Amino acid sequence: MAYEENKAGLNDGKGDAGASINFIEAIINEELKQGKNGGRVHTRFPPEPNGYLHIGHAKSILLNYGIAQKYNGKFNLRFDDTNPTREEQEYVDSILDDVKWLGADWEDRLFFASDYFDQLYLWAEEIIKNGKAYVDDQSSEEIAAQKGTPVKPGDESPYRNRSVEENLDLFRRMKAGEFKNGEKVLRAKIDMAHPNMHLRDPLMYRIIHAHHHRTGDKWCIYPMYDWAHGESDFLEGITHSICTLEFEVHRPLYNWFVDQIQTTDYRPRQIEFARLNITYTVMSKRRLLELVSEKYVQGWDDPRMPTISGLRRRGYTPEALKLFAEKVGVAKRDNVIDVALLEHSIREDLNKKAARVMAVLDPVKVIIQNFPANHIDMVTLENNPEDQDAGSREVPFTREVYIERDDFMVEPPKKFFRMAPGNEVRLKGAYIVKCVDFKLDEQTGEVVEIYCTYDPDSRSGMEGSQRKVKGTLHWVSASEAVNATIRLFDRLFKTEDPSDVAEGEDYKSNLNPDSLKVLENCKLEPGLREAKPGDKFQFQRLGYFCVDKESQADNLIFNRTVPLRDSWTKQSKS
Ligand code: ATP
Ligand code: MG
Repeated sequence: MAYEENKAGLNDGKGDAGASINFIEAIINEELKQGKNGGRVHTRFPPEPNGYLHIGHAKSILLNYGIAQKYNGKFNLRFDDTNPTREEQEYVDSILDDVKWLGADWEDRLFFASDYFDQLYLWAEEIIKNGKAYVDDQSSEEIAAQKGTPVKPGDESPYRNRSVEENLDLFRRMKAGEFKNGEKVLRAKIDMAHPNMHLRDPLMYRIIHAHHHRTGDKWCIYPMYDWAHGESDFLEGITHSICTLEFEVHRPLYNWFVDQIQTTDYRPRQIEFARLNITYTVMSKRRLLELVSEKYVQGWDDPRMPTISGLRRRGYTPEALKLFAEKVGVAKRDNVIDVALLEHSIREDLNKKAARVMAVLDPVKVIIQNFPANHIDMVTLENNPEDQDAGSREVPFTREVYIERDDFMVEPPKKFFRMAPGNEVRLKGAYIVKCVDFKLDEQTGEVVEIYCTYDPDSRSGMEGSQRKVKGTLHWVSASEAVNATIRLFDRLFKTEDPSDVAEGEDYKSNLNPDSLKVLENCKLEPGLREAKPGDKFQFQRLGYFCVDKESQADNLIFNRTVPLRDSWTKQSKS
């Protein structure tokens, strides 16, 4: 068995656990002190390949992998592929990509629950021979009707006391394909009066005549999650089977199933923690699938989705998700995390990493009347004040530049330190300019051009440039600029809790109709022509942006990851 080989890196029970350990680590430390499992720590992440992973899964992956690393243990990736009707190879592939991208390394331990179908089947026969399982001919409706309630015992199936021989014969014929879907099931024979409803003769196998993405048409009986999961953990030598709170009530069943096959002291231990929930989004695969298939979003990796692939496309980094997971911690009770904490984590990471550049999203042209035509002045700009090694770059300054439309006002209020008739502002890294005139569109009244003069002695970094003005604006040379499409995102849902709806409505009624804004012909500094999909930048004063996966040199597309909270100008919000 796999765990026999996992003897390396035994723990002495002290670990390197520092002061702040979570409750799962506290449990592990205690067990290690007692010498449990010979000091082995082995975790797993068990996704069902029926959708793309979301940030809740990321939390689970980082938790399981983090524990394995911390205790010098092992981490397995195991697909829980027990339901052939909902599962697809596309999902398997996306999950592999996402787990890899997060940096969780399963080494050579990639498994599928379907790898164990033969072993599970043999164990099921054993359990039948021990008189602990039986074939039931009733429909799922009949079985459900006999379940009872938490305070009322259930009724025993009329098939419950079949002989071992009859059960074995029927089970083998189920496997051989003699029966139709739903005609028979295999049930564990536990206790129809048990206070825990999950122990009232739960199903172990159902008949599904369907093609499986790995086992093809070999099987037409498929194990239930509860039956397959603990046994898979056992087979892999998992010591800590970490899952979310909804499985707490399943734990006695998990243990019951392991008890039926376990022959040594070793057994995996299930530990539950609170699932991650985040404001302004939904996190169930069923709902995410609905948003995708009904085209409320443009795919699983739409940057507005809480999926790992969506976050990646939006510009999130694995490091930011780790920071976030650490801040959230590991809770025993369900809670909802403010999405602002997630945004804070990506800002914290990109602030250190992302090169500063200038881009104008809503351009209006400024003509500097006393600057020579056809002349290019290369000005030097720092790439990242947070990173001394990031160096600097040269950016062309010309007679005509673009600034942001809302950085100009014809009749500014007091304390408007940006551009206005008669006002002086600095163009970042370049000169101080003064607005002397402007031209309006006769029909719309919109500003079409702004006329300025510049002070040749005011260039940043030059002697004589000590003169201070209150506003500094970002700009891009009009003749040298590169065009781009820029996507701005808002929250996918209008409300903190999308499930909170009026009667007759569902969570989709809370979708935010303005969650995507696409801006064409934005102006970027020319160096960005070389930007490649996945590259990340801070567009000064505007936020962090990431090159979209569909971006090309002649058709640049950027996604805004997150706006900046602060900007470096002393502007006051008008
Ligand atoms: P969903 O409820 O979104 O459909 P699931 O739990 O059915 O998800 P699985 O593929 O079975 O999806 O989940 C794999 C693992 O991820 C499980 O161990 C599950 O407990 C964990 N997990 C799922 N959602 C979350 C979450 N929001 N926070 C933390 N862990 C989660
Ligand atoms: Mg599940």
